[in-house]
Amino acid sequence: MKQSPAEQQADSTLAQKSPLLWAARTEVGHVREHNEDSYLLQPPLFVVADGMGGHEAGEVASSFAVTTLAQANLAHADAQELGKCIEAANLALIEAAQNGLGKPGMGTTCTAAYIESNKLAIAHVGDSRAYLLRGGVLTRISHDHSFVEELVESGEITADEARVHPNRSIITRALGSDPHMYADHFELPLEEHDRILLCSDGLSGMLSDKDLEDIMISSPSPQECVDSLVEAALRAGGVDNITAIVIELSSGIIQKQAVRRTAKNILLWIASVVIALYLIISGIAYYVSHSWYLIDEQGYVAVYHGIPSNIGPFNLSELENKTTIQTQELPAPIYNRLQSDGIKVSSPEEIDKLLESYRQQVEEYTRSKAEQQPSDELLEQTANSSEQGSDLALDEPESPEEGGQAHE
Ligand code: MG
Repeated sequence: MKQSPAEQQADSTLAQKSPLLWAARTEVGHVREHNEDSYLLQPPLFVVADGMGGHEAGEVASSFAVTTLAQANLAHADAQELGKCIEAANLALIEAAQNGLGKPGMGTTCTAAYIESNKLAIAHVGDSRAYLLRGGVLTRISHDHSFVEELVESGEITADEARVHPNRSIITRALGSDPHMYADHFELPLEEHDRILLCSDGLSGMLSDKDLEDIMISSPSPQECVDSLVEAALRAGGVDNITAIVIELSSGIIQKQAVRRTAKNILLWIASVVIALYLIISGIAYYVSHSWYLIDEQGYVAVYHGIPSNIGPFNLSELENKTTIQTQELPAPIYNRLQSDGIKVSSPEEIDKLLESYRQQVEEYTRSKAEQQPSDELLEQTANSSEQGSDLALDEPESPEEGGQAHE
């Protein structure tokens, strides 16, 4: 699907508003009379197809392939799905040819790229290539399905020899003939300022990978890049149709991802804080609901449920029971604690035991006090008697026998 200059201008305008920048160019070359290449710019989907079969066949097949992919309605950078779309286009092309489309024996290559965020999905068949330029290094990321590629892999010829080999145009896999044909597919992560090149063999056959790399590095924009690539291929001979698409990942897409990551981190942080607060509050609530303490209140032992603290205006305890046990009748250590911070208790059963213990201690204290009182009175009387006896002795001295009985 070739585009008019007006459509390319529209694409360029759209590109300025997108995190992706792209440009495409195709030329018939110096030898062929017709351009059988087709390409698709339907961001984030980009396709190059190189038709074969001659006039009214090659361009029909390549155009049919990109048109079919344009209608595929892909939603994500899923390489497997992209490959299935190419395989479906193959079946559709075979069926269309059987129904009279084009000419017998026509076919086409197809190399498709779909970009979603920082993810690149590639699916391809034939010898139209995909390259990735990152950090000044150009890497071919597709594998040619061609006779010469097999020779290069077997070590019989070099990549440079493959470009001028007499059988370089023989491809081993293409759309249009084999209904069982399958598409190679893979996914790659992208980085800021990565450039992707999709091209027909009219470009890669005319220029070495080093030439392609030099031009892609030195071209400031995708449009200048495709122009320089195609013109270099024309200068090198232009023996085949030449098509190039260059897509650049602008900083915007990375910034959007950074914003999304930051927003995600903030949400995770907020969620962590909320969970931590929930756990802390739940822990405090559990601790408070399972705590009691005894304290002096107006001279009596009082039982409070909770802990003797406040959080802001919220009191963390409430009076549960005010007993009749007078604190001043309890032993001094207990009395002192009840007068200060109180005595912490961890269960109602422990409260009952403590209060019962206090009552017993009060009773014991009362009993001992009652028992002690007559003794004290006797001592007091004895002391009084002694004092009187001394007075009498001073006034009227008695015999030693009478003094010893009083003492007893
Ligand atoms: Mg070609």
